[in-house]
Amino acid sequence: MNARQDIPIAVADGVLRERGQREVFCGLTGIVWLHRKIQDAFFLVVGSRTCAHLLQSAAGVMIFAEPRFGTAIIDERDLAGLADANAELDAVVERLLARRPEIRMLFLVGSCPSEVIKLDLSRAAERLNARHHPAVRVLNYSGSGIETTFTQGEDACLAALVPQLPAAPADEAPSLLVVGALPDIVEDQFTRLLQAIGIEAPRFLPARRSGAMPAVGAGTRYLLAQPFLGDTARALEARGAQRIAAPFPFGVEGTTAWLRAAAGAFGIGHDTVERVTATARERATTALARQRRLLEGRRIFFFPDSQLEIPLARFLSRELGMQLVEVGTPYLHRTHLAEELALLPRGTALSEGQDVDRQLDRCLAAQPDLTVCGLGLANPLEAEGLATKWSIELVFSPVHGYEQAADLAALFARPLDRRQRLAA
Ligand code: SF4
Repeated sequence: MNARQDIPIAVADGVLRERGQREVFCGLTGIVWLHRKIQDAFFLVVGSRTCAHLLQSAAGVMIFAEPRFGTAIIDERDLAGLADANAELDAVVERLLARRPEIRMLFLVGSCPSEVIKLDLSRAAERLNARHHPAVRVLNYSGSGIETTFTQGEDACLAALVPQLPAAPADEAPSLLVVGALPDIVEDQFTRLLQAIGIEAPRFLPARRSGAMPAVGAGTRYLLAQPFLGDTARALEARGAQRIAAPFPFGVEGTTAWLRAAAGAFGIGHDTVERVTATARERATTALARQRRLLEGRRIFFFPDSQLEIPLARFLSRELGMQLVEVGTPYLHRTHLAEELALLPRGTALSEGQDVDRQLDRCLAAQPDLTVCGLGLANPLEAEGLATKWSIELVFSPVHGYEQAADLAALFARPLDRRQRLAA
């Protein structure tokens, strides 16, 4: 958790902008889902015991397995400049790679402490690459919590990967790259749908193995699966890739629009998408109707946390009939979210950034039926009698696509259902 100096709020373009104390997890949290995705990678956090505790408690069950992440602890001697932190880091990496020969990609992940002592992890990665590449590729990115929110860890990780991707041949036909870590089961579903639509070989970033990362070049058309990948998008465009503008694949409407956008970029018409997706759409719509009975007309308040807030608010209002009291997001990427913003009900109260005390006042005054927030705010709000949903669960769970639409709605319906049962 971190805090910033209180700066007065500003309202511009109908969006309330706030800068003050924030209540969010840091970018290290992304390791919890990224290490499951890239199966031969290891994430070595260069940080303090606090960082190690955060990861261990966020990852929960993984402590029983041989995890693909760990922490090189910076202790008091390092902080006081009494030890050579670079030499210690090199020794930790040597021991790790000797003990875990299956590791093919090593991410050195910066933290607040490594930034405080100005440990240059990009130079460390260069030095370690000289020693271990090609057996192991060493990369680095920052998961520090000083200026970030937790999903930015994935953005920083993928942005670090992009310059390492193979170059696609200059004369290669246009190809589709889906960008954002998705659970394998969701990736398989999207692959089947995209292929049935006529896009032959969709690729995914990140790939499941470090040696299978997709090539990128001027023929690459990329489609974001997550709304928090601004730096990754910039890095892809620097390599010639072009973004396919689309809403995000949450719910039936979002998934269909996302697939249509992909199809359109390859000259495939909407009728093909309608035909290929008809059964899945119908199944998802039926499943959503059950959740709609619990959610329709209920008022929801989003604190800024995961950066998924705007697409989720669109899904909840348009497909489940919820009323949006306030939709907060840590950062509003107007270009990537343009299609989503156009679908929100006119006059939706949007806020960007956070001043947590002011936002808590607004939330308590509004008394929403459901509040989506970080773990740190959930207990105090529950104590005030409000039902809450942890936003971090939305990133850990498979929620994209048709097959998961009802599960996504159920994540919001469950706290309301529980309250109703307790009241009864
Ligand atoms: Fe805390 Fe910073 Fe470590 Fe994150 S990176 S756990 S905010 S010290």
